[in-house]
Amino acid sequence: MRIDLHLHSTASDGTLTPEALVDAAASLGLVAIALTDHDSVGGVAAATRAGIERGVTVVPGVELSADVPGGDCHILGYLVDVGHAPFAAWLAARREARITRGVEIVRRVNAALRSRSGAGAPQASWERVARRADLAGGGSVGRPHVADELVAVGAVTSREEAFASLLGNGMAGDVPSAKVPPAQVIAVIRDAGGVAVLAHPTYLPDFAGRLPDLVACGLGGLECLYGDYAPDVVAGLVALAGVHDLVVTGGSDFHGPSTGAGSGAIGVPLVPDSVLEALARRHGRG
Ligand code: AMP
Ligand code: ZN
Ligand code: FE
Ligand code: FE
Repeated sequence: MRIDLHLHSTASDGTLTPEALVDAAASLGLVAIALTDHDSVGGVAAATRAGIERGVTVVPGVELSADVPGGDCHILGYLVDVGHAPFAAWLAARREARITRGVEIVRRVNAALRSRSGAGAPQASWERVARRADLAGGGSVGRPHVADELVAVGAVTSREEAFASLLGNGMAGDVPSAKVPPAQVIAVIRDAGGVAVLAHPTYLPDFAGRLPDLVACGLGGLECLYGDYAPDVVAGLVALAGVHDLVVTGGSDFHGPSTGAGSGAIGVPLVPDSVLEALARRHGRG
């Protein structure tokens, strides 16, 4: 039986609602999914309700960004207590920081567009980005919302092109997030009763060298099955997980059709439900 433990919804930068994700997963025959929105557990309740109707187990999850020089360190939190008040407050503060950053991303991207094409250049509007991200409803704004706005104003034709030309790492719209060290991110997840898992490890420069420190901070798992990882990459990660006694997890990082993120399809790569059993055992260990 198959599962997918890395999915984004409209509670952050995915294009499908939590209910639509559950529907899609059920149609594909998945028995369990985890919702892992950036800095938000706002979609978990709706997904859980839909999951009860459709016979899909919904694992409460979240994806947090930690500051590491020169790379993306994303840490997934699984089986977190979404009602834990300090956790909710911490997430709300992170979403606030995303708003400040989002305003700056729009400012810098607009400046880049003007320097490229002059005064008549298409310009993104922060107000529209805020609506796309549903900030009034507690949404979590990120670069993908700016990408969608750039598509809407005709500056680019897709999210992928927006990242390739303006928003990708090192480009005009790559504004750093407020600095939070990985140790703090892992502690926040554990304090909320969750298991902390390093997402898409290869995106983190020298991940193998950094792993002992992360494990010392309480990291509990490694996302070995991810997106389009080749079999040899997966095998290397699984071996590394064994060395550090980390639970092996996996998921698609699906953000919606044609969004250019993750594998691009729910349930890809194939993740067996034994992965969730192992995660639950680790959760029980505390
Ligand atoms: P942010 O949280 O604002 O830093 O944005 C990071 C998100 O941007 C990731 O979770 C992906 O959804 C998306 N992303 C990053 N790189 C790309 C890319 N090359 N193409 C499409 N989406 C991307
Ligand atoms: Zn994302
Ligand atoms: Fe990520
Ligand atoms: Fe993700």
